[in-house]
Amino acid sequence: MDLDQIVRAVRGARRITVLTGAGVSAASGIPTFRGPDGLWKQFRAEQLATPEAFERDPRLVWEWYDWRRQKVAACQPNAAHRVLAAWSQRWPTCHIITQNVDDLHLRVGTRDLVRLHGSIWDVSCWNGCAAAPSRWRDERVPLDEVPPRCPHCGGLVRPAVVWFGESLDPADVEAAHAATASCDLFISAGTSAIVYPAAAFLHDAKRRGATTAEINLETTPASEIVDIAVQGKVEEVLEQVEAALGA
Ligand code: NAD
Repeated sequence: MDLDQIVRAVRGARRITVLTGAGVSAASGIPTFRGPDGLWKQFRAEQLATPEAFERDPRLVWEWYDWRRQKVAACQPNAAHRVLAAWSQRWPTCHIITQNVDDLHLRVGTRDLVRLHGSIWDVSCWNGCAAAPSRWRDERVPLDEVPPRCPHCGGLVRPAVVWFGESLDPADVEAAHAATASCDLFISAGTSAIVYPAAAFLHDAKRRGATTAEINLETTPASEIVDIAVQGKVEEVLEQVEAALGA
């Protein structure tokens, strides 16, 4: 693997941006969407994480989220989260952009974190009722009512995450673009690199002249275009990079 290359790239970089995906949390025990544990009952994520699925069967969608919330609550951050948090604390110009909704990056104190797809602990009123805030935190595990109800209007509550087919929060997109535009090393870690617009950040960084790297167990569409492709477990690779840096 190109470990030496990535160590040199990290050592030489002035501004690092890391895009993370479900693979970063796999070692914590949280299933990825496209991995072997990606199915819940007989459903794929794409069949549940959409407004149409919620409209059709809110109870089913909430049962899936309740199951995922229980899984996340029982998991601990792993070495990948810890190393990235250390980078964000050590280097103020290091930015982490995540597609994960599990908040494990936050739990280890990652600074300057952009959560492109929101948090699994945030909810909002499905009807957008005027009395409710735009979103609020609900950390009940398991939920005592499925589907949960809006405390303001009694209507349905939805997970305040970005579902397939929905737009990202413009402020998050802007922050991610800014982090991508300013970096001289862009690392795509543990993501299948196919969900847009997140996947476009790598292309953007490359076009702007940044060195690009990928850390993934498998080859992905990104593998062919990056300067450095490291095949391996992200939690092990990042720990080795950190050790080589002498940190
Ligand atoms: P994905 O499931 O499409 O891909 C996961 C990628 O991680 C794969 O390319 C796989 O080869 C790689 N991988 C798995 N284990 C790894 C490891 N130990 N080390 C390195 N690589 C590893 O996930 P994605 O690319 O993040 O995108 C799909 C969507 O899934 C995102 O929108 C995200 O919100 C959502 N998602 C989030 C979580 C979470 O919050 N933890 C979990 C599942 C899915």
